[in-house]
Amino acid sequence: MHQFTIAEIIRGLKNKQFSSMEITRHLLTRITQLDSHYNSFITVTAEQALAEAASADKRLAEGGAPSMCGVPIAHKDIFCTTAVRTSCGSKMLDNFVPPYDASVVASFKHCGSISLGKTNMDEFAMGSSNENSHYGATINPWGNNRVPGGSSGGSAAAVAARLLPGATASDTGGSIRQPAALTNTTGLKPTYGRISRWGMVAFASSLDQAGPLARNAEDVAHMLSVMAGADVRDSTCLNRPSQDYTLGLNKSVNGLKIGVPKEYFSAGLHPEIAVRIEAALKEYVKLGAELIEISLPHTAMAVPTYYVIASAEASTNLSRFDGVRYGYRCNNPTNLRDLYKRSRGEAFGEEVKRRILIGSYVLSAGYYDAYYKKAQQVRRLIKQDFVDAFKRVDVIMGPTTPTPAFALGEKNADPIAMYLQDIYTIAASLSGLPGMSVPCGLVNGLPVGLQIIGNYLDEARMLNLAHQYQQVTDWHQAEAATPAPAA
Ligand code: GLN
Repeated sequence: MHQFTIAEIIRGLKNKQFSSMEITRHLLTRITQLDSHYNSFITVTAEQALAEAASADKRLAEGGAPSMCGVPIAHKDIFCTTAVRTSCGSKMLDNFVPPYDASVVASFKHCGSISLGKTNMDEFAMGSSNENSHYGATINPWGNNRVPGGSSGGSAAAVAARLLPGATASDTGGSIRQPAALTNTTGLKPTYGRISRWGMVAFASSLDQAGPLARNAEDVAHMLSVMAGADVRDSTCLNRPSQDYTLGLNKSVNGLKIGVPKEYFSAGLHPEIAVRIEAALKEYVKLGAELIEISLPHTAMAVPTYYVIASAEASTNLSRFDGVRYGYRCNNPTNLRDLYKRSRGEAFGEEVKRRILIGSYVLSAGYYDAYYKKAQQVRRLIKQDFVDAFKRVDVIMGPTTPTPAFALGEKNADPIAMYLQDIYTIAASLSGLPGMSVPCGLVNGLPVGLQIIGNYLDEARMLNLAHQYQQVTDWHQAEAATPAPAA
């Protein structure tokens, strides 16, 4: 039963082949047997999941239930969940039990989806390997010594290991697309503002965006239909109604203009990934699309620009974690200053501290103009590259990552090498554009992803494109070997 996709579960529940209770129990057992190896969950909420499955089965029996009713998923531990710990991968929030649900969580509850728990992540979503989690690294099902990517590595690994058919995730600079590429899953970062950020712990507010991670484009469409939509509680959430994204999945690709940025095939790209991307582009040509070489001249500036802006925003967002209002508090503080210093010093990990220091520096008087203001100006140029490109093409395609999954520990000593994992994903984030990663092959037995960058609010077209590709290829069906169940 764990092999079922979301679409298959929806069908199976409707046709009464199995109940929500049956599939929920099955997946919970699988998580118990296997997740000690993957470490893709921080918290498993078995009791709550079974209670939700019981009510979903009732709703399904009554008829007229929303399509995702009874489907088990899980939430990245960045989304607040009523009465369930929301750690954001940090010791700082290890004891934080929110009194409310994030809008995304509430939307899934509202349609009767089951939450199996909270997935592992890099602390405060800062990272590209899931090694920055206070709860230990997550293992990529594609290799025991391989990272699943980050920061949504727990969600991606859980889907790849068939512990669940889909999970929520978030992307600030690549955290949905990069782990999707490294685990052979399909992930979408929608247009900035497409999904409410309310109740999603803030990292860099002008970049953070929630999104779905699943096995294929059709499942991602099912999840996005639940997640997207206006929300008065998030002033940056766009005032666009939700829609059923599964309805646009059977459109022809004929005549579509695909922009291929020459800067995305630079020296740092693994040559075998370039081969896989070119093969994927050929599939689109066979389907009737036209390839057009384009240039995004400011691509090289995206990573440095991102690390100034994201760190600046992180330093202000994370100032709320002071050991007073909520979060970790050190033992026996001698005075208020000692309390702040030790609470933050003891509870934040190394990468989070690095970002806070960089962020505070670039925002400080005297450096603001040289770094923060300059970065904002370059951000504008990066965005303009895309605006110009979209005058000539309908979508942009290229690699999601420069390399396949790297080894655990390989990049820990070199933060810059880690930051370069997002070299192809960050520019779309800085521009607020939607981006997707779709499985497109294996390199040395490890998955790689094709990135699809769409114009603003063009998620329906991107999902259709990914779906059309998945109709003529079967890379998304390749499955990682499962380790022996724990005794
Ligand atoms: N890897 C990037 C970072 O460390 C992006 C993370 C994200 O998208 N949340 O900031």
